[in-house]
Amino acid sequence: MAVSLQALIDRSVRNMGSGIHPVVKETAIEIIKRAYKEGIYVQMTSGYRSFAEQNKLYAKGRTAPGKIVTNAKVGQSNHNYGLAVDYVLLSSDGKTAIWTVNSKWKRVAQIAKALGFAWGGDWRSFKDYPHLEMMEGLTLSQLQAGKRPVLVSKVNNATPAVPKPTKKKSSTKKSFSSGDRAIVRTIQNTLNKRYKLTIKVDGYQGPETYKALLKGLQTELNKQFGAGLVVDGEWGPKTRAAVVNVRKGAKGNITWILQALLICKGYDVNGLDSIFGHGLEKAVRAFQKASGLAVDGIAGRATWTKLC
Ligand SMILES: [Zn+2]
Repeated sequence: MAVSLQALIDRSVRNMGSGIHPVVKETAIEIIKRAYKEGIYVQMTSGYRSFAEQNKLYAKGRTAPGKIVTNAKVGQSNHNYGLAVDYVLLSSDGKTAIWTVNSKWKRVAQIAKALGFAWGGDWRSFKDYPHLEMMEGLTLSQLQAGKRPVLVSKVNNATPAVPKPTKKKSSTKKSFSSGDRAIVRTIQNTLNKRYKLTIKVDGYQGPETYKALLKGLQTELNKQFGAGLVVDGEWGPKTRAAVVNVRKGAKGNITWILQALLICKGYDVNGLDSIFGHGLEKAVRAFQKASGLAVDGIAGRATWTKLC
């Protein structure tokens, strides 16, 4: 039998503690309700953490046995101010915690963000997937100095549409959703700003967008490698000769262009963030496979040629 909604709420309220900010608490409960309607069982595992509890947690893996679980000392965690919660997914009977960051996990984050939370899974340096917080732009040092955010409940905000399920097969290629159109608009906008172009920002990637991406690539090759190319958006032998290998660990504008090209071709690169991570490598491999190239996950001359 499926765990009841009330059980999830009751456990979560207990785990969040009495020091949790009322708006944070109310919103966390709203997340549980909305996720439940979609057959996602989510529970808050923590919320407010007293300074004493933070001390104990910080000691873990340092002066006390166990693995290190936090880098935050006393007063350095948003949990110490009742402004953050952590969540986990549960099996449908409510008995097993599921820590896999899958589409359901991300859906919960999406619901939470629509209700005013910031999600730790969006952080650049250290991703904290269970973490949700409401800071209203305040920094930790402002909190430490005694400032507190004025939180306004957004529990009446609409739930964002459920993302269309993407086919889980060997390929990460997918059809375009309205969200993808928004990303293409972001790409077009960025191209215009970064490379002083004037292409149409309509979310539809046509020849104009691909040409602009190639101009961006040529500009970067000139700037970063002194390639001396004519920035004309044409894939000729000179550009082909000047192109560089881009692989996992790379970051910057060329990686961004690679991500943008793959997104425009319908590949899921797991974020347009200019960082060559696992998601981008997977997409490069899928593209290489689909294009009949050697599959090595590195964007080299042959891969760039097919992309451009
Ligand atoms: Zn947290």
